[in-house]
Amino acid sequence: MKNSKRAVVVGAGLVGSLWAILLAKRGYEVDVYERRPDVRRMGFLGGRSINLAMSDRGWRAIQLAGIEDQIRSVAIPMPGRMMHSEEGDLTFQPYGKEGQAIYSVSRGGLNLALLDIADRYENVQLHFDQICRRVDVDRNALLFENAQNGERTEVETPLIFGTDGAFSAVRNTLQKLPMFNYSQQYLEHGYKELSIPPTADGGFRMEPNALHIWPRRKFMLIALPNHDGSFTCTLFLPFEGDESFSRLDSDTAVSRFFSKYFPDAVPLLTNLLDDFRTNPTSSLVTVRCSPWQHGSRILLLGDAAHAIVPFYGQGMNSGFEDCTLLDQYLDQYDEDWEKVLPLFSQERVHDANAIADLALRNFIEMRDRVADPQFLLRKKIEAHLHEKYPQEFLPLYSMVTFSHLPYGEALREGQAQDRLFDRILRIDGVENKWNGPEVEGVFREWLRERALI
Ligand code: FAD
Repeated sequence: MKNSKRAVVVGAGLVGSLWAILLAKRGYEVDVYERRPDVRRMGFLGGRSINLAMSDRGWRAIQLAGIEDQIRSVAIPMPGRMMHSEEGDLTFQPYGKEGQAIYSVSRGGLNLALLDIADRYENVQLHFDQICRRVDVDRNALLFENAQNGERTEVETPLIFGTDGAFSAVRNTLQKLPMFNYSQQYLEHGYKELSIPPTADGGFRMEPNALHIWPRRKFMLIALPNHDGSFTCTLFLPFEGDESFSRLDSDTAVSRFFSKYFPDAVPLLTNLLDDFRTNPTSSLVTVRCSPWQHGSRILLLGDAAHAIVPFYGQGMNSGFEDCTLLDQYLDQYDEDWEKVLPLFSQERVHDANAIADLALRNFIEMRDRVADPQFLLRKKIEAHLHEKYPQEFLPLYSMVTFSHLPYGEALREGQAQDRLFDRILRIDGVENKWNGPEVEGVFREWLRERALI
């Protein structure tokens, strides 16, 4: 059975606005309901510039939406991470091969571009200031409340897509139904955004083509460049404990903390104390749930289905990939939603859980291991093996970031690579013969065991 071609999308964030475009391209009458006012009238939230790292999975979706050139023209390539030691020494670590990069894009700018495209379709209606309050799953009806005047409207529709983020109201309804699995896990760390402004003539105060990291084991500061010459910095720090947000309760404490741990950043963070006082301290949550669909009429996508911590830069990328994959399923099954929704949900949830695990693991890598000589040696050997055996060996970071391999496969492959490096890094004096025959021997044996040669 095919539904008539009408759908409601709840939430016009990154994933919702992209999904509305893809549905519109298929000829659906799409109504998009968004809690906030129209971002195109508001400008960036609070005037701050907040950015995201876009990688290959995200680009594929942006291409489908038809705005790749527009976004690429203002995206800043970051081919590697720039590590800042406590002494202020800088080390650059490439993320992949020559020519590969992740890209810093403006979250507000991207959302705005997607909304603009969606709005150009006659079959898309955007409704702002509409808060989804309830979903009646028996009638496939939604109750919206106008955020300005409290007026309530009920809407019935054959298809509902919940793209309303990590604290999704649509998911909240599904959570009350039998056989719906749900978990949420908060990190002990929170985050706060800070800013490095451009120089007086609009230039960058640090190398723009890098993701900057100040790894300090239990916490870290990162910075991504913006098109206007500024950097958005994010401090990830425990809420409680010796070095924590709870201790940074005065200007003196904040200044002392930054001077001790991030001395080279202090002269650049010209508005540090104001930013620290004004900007919220936010929490980080991993949400897992299943099934993502209810029957063949309701589906969760993006953060509503799988919110993850930001340390692999894959939250938006994975949400965008949801859209590209769902679009492919619709082609494959001739838009038979009864087949597509359960299949998509069943298959995709494993990959979402895998990237959730990988993101948690990458937090430790970013804040702690990137400064560890063993880790750096492993990265060097990985790059060498990939160069020499491009078909047989792709480093985990590249699988996640520069490929479209399902996340579940990347996770499994990454675990196998851990076992390989347990062996390689035990070789006596490996740091002096990392590209020699002994390492190669272990590698070839590992390939043989896995029947790859
Ligand atoms: P959202 O962006 O949260 O959009 C949900 C929309 O639904 C919002 O517009 C909201 O107003 C609306 N809404 C909510 N409730 C309702 C309701 N009841 N009724 C109507 N509308 C509603 N990802 C990356 O890929 N790369 C990165 O570098 C990256 N960095 C990040 C850094 C930080 C600090 C954080 C917190 C996240 C980061 N992410 C990153 C993750 C990324 O932000 C999210 O995965 C992405 O925004 C999810 O998009 P979404 O559309 O699913 O949800």
